[in-house]
Amino acid sequence: MVLAQLGGSISRAIQQMSNATIIDEKVLNECLNEITRALLQSDVQFKLVRDMQTNIKKIVNLDDLAAGHNKRKIIQQAIFNELCTILDPGKPSFTPKKGKASVIMFVGLQGSGKTTTCTKYAYYHQKKGWKPALVCADTFRAGAFDQLKQNATKAKIPFYGSYTESDPVRIAIEGVERFKQENCDLIIVDTSGRHKQEASLFEEMRQVAEATKPDLVIFVMDSSIGQAAFDQSQAFKQSVSVGAVIITKMDGHAKGGGALSAVATTKSPVIFIGTGEHIDEFEVFDVKPFVSRLLG
Ligand code: GDP
Repeated sequence: MVLAQLGGSISRAIQQMSNATIIDEKVLNECLNEITRALLQSDVQFKLVRDMQTNIKKIVNLDDLAAGHNKRKIIQQAIFNELCTILDPGKPSFTPKKGKASVIMFVGLQGSGKTTTCTKYAYYHQKKGWKPALVCADTFRAGAFDQLKQNATKAKIPFYGSYTESDPVRIAIEGVERFKQENCDLIIVDTSGRHKQEASLFEEMRQVAEATKPDLVIFVMDSSIGQAAFDQSQAFKQSVSVGAVIITKMDGHAKGGGALSAVATTKSPVIFIGTGEHIDEFEVFDVKPFVSRLLG
């Protein structure tokens, strides 16, 4: 890893520390405080940054620094590794198998990019030879079914929904059943994501999950929600068993530090990122470039 991969204020902090004649605890602390500020600005949760700071202090040996070892490299590597570790929950998410029906339920707040992401996920797999299908279990937002229908039609992906049925659980059950009969191997259930009446939203998520028994629940999170990422991912995790995370709108200004909160809270990996409004602006998540960007 080269210094250029680290962000302006972080590399400045490390540079300043390396310039100091004597590297003692005070100098190291100043450097780490500077780094903390930069990470908070990238929306990494305070607790995670604080824990990271403690870990780095344990890893970085002051004697090594004082002895003239490559100080920059030691600290850079420690920061980079710590962030990568936070983003790795230690176990991979459920991986669907081609040819075997899997139910994938998407949850997230309204506006997070959930419906768009459902289609992107379906399209991504369709191109790889899967038989995906989309079920619109969002009966709350007027226009939700039309949006899913439009996206699905454009991508030539079968879809199911209703203009008249108001019970999302019923639609979810019917849709999943139908596509199982049609031998679809990736049955994607889009759910409601309203802002208000949160308690009832979470109850609805729980009921849809109970009825459709998803193999995987994917939590969709907007990268620009900043420090709210922690509360949001925790709220979803408490009502459904989130197994993977997708971060959207990574083409915007946000650095995506909220992803660290989402992974830490849900103990689930990020699997994809959304990088635009278009159906193919969707990438498999890769920890190292993500951390480089976060620090950049
Ligand atoms: P939902 O309410 O969570 O279902 O959100 P939608 O799928 O309707 O998306 C809300 C808005 O975000 C729409 O205008 C989408 O085009 C946009 N959007 C979704 N994903 C991305 C992304 O990765 N990048 C950008 N720039 N826009 C996105």
